[in-house]
Amino acid sequence: MDRRAFLATLGAATTAGTLLKGAAAPAEAASGRITLLHTNDTHSHIEPFGPGNGALSGKGGIARRATLVKRLRAEAGASLLLDAGDTFQGTPFFNRYKGRLDYRLMRMVGYDATTLGNHDFDNGVEMLVEAMESMERLQHRNPPFAFLNCNFDFKGAPSLEKRMRPFMVRDFPGIRVGVTAVGVAFAGLVAPKNHEGIGWRDPYESLNPVVKHLRETEKVDLVVVLSHLGYQMLDSDFDDLRLPAHVPGVDAVIGGHSHTFLDTPTRLPQALGETLVFQVGFGGVNLGRMDFAVHRGEVRAATGASMAVEG
Ligand SMILES: [Zn+2]
Repeated sequence: MDRRAFLATLGAATTAGTLLKGAAAPAEAASGRITLLHTNDTHSHIEPFGPGNGALSGKGGIARRATLVKRLRAEAGASLLLDAGDTFQGTPFFNRYKGRLDYRLMRMVGYDATTLGNHDFDNGVEMLVEAMESMERLQHRNPPFAFLNCNFDFKGAPSLEKRMRPFMVRDFPGIRVGVTAVGVAFAGLVAPKNHEGIGWRDPYESLNPVVKHLRETEKVDLVVVLSHLGYQMLDSDFDDLRLPAHVPGVDAVIGGHSHTFLDTPTRLPQALGETLVFQVGFGGVNLGRMDFAVHRGEVRAATGASMAVEG
């Protein structure tokens, strides 16, 4: 690499939030397709649900999820594997390994990005960072696994701040994808000592400049939001169903928090087209899939379905 190319790379890498951009040039072909595979609220369910869990019995398990993901990614070509948070809490695996096992397994399954749910703070910021660190030792794949959020103020928690990105941009043949994320307010959900140094801001207000930046500066064709706000939250001003009306330009919301089982994405109109809002229950019993085809920055086709993770 010559000096000029090196400096250009450095310039790209030091722009906040774009660290994860691959070395590839922006997509040049006019059309492209992408498959988004996703989970939410997996809550340390590493093994399948045992008998006596009603409709969930025998479903889930991260090994089976890995097999399904591998097959779908091989078929799909361009794909991202994403998660909407609440990876922690729910089984003895969390009590024993404090999230280290969950993140390490996510890395091994090939996740591209996740965000932070309220339960990911259950052991405080230090333990969260420790779990992230333990997963970072498995860095053998480029680009790295990203932790995304644009509405928390991490300034008072520098060890966490340096591991978080407001967004990421990834290039695939004929399609450039931007992913960002928002989290639920701490009040009543996270003990103050467990989110020490981290502030919460209005998720819609936080998303708007990021989505604008992704569209106008990064020139992405598709904007994806990982949301831990919940699908429909009547006791809050913020949820996934109301997000599209407040944040135009989002093509897909991958939701979590409310553990809502949807068979297909909910389609909502927004100022620049349509937003697909999706969420696939909890505990890793399902894997969500959304497929987008774009032509010159415009979504031409969008479909989605929930798939059971079972033997
Ligand atoms: Zn949850």
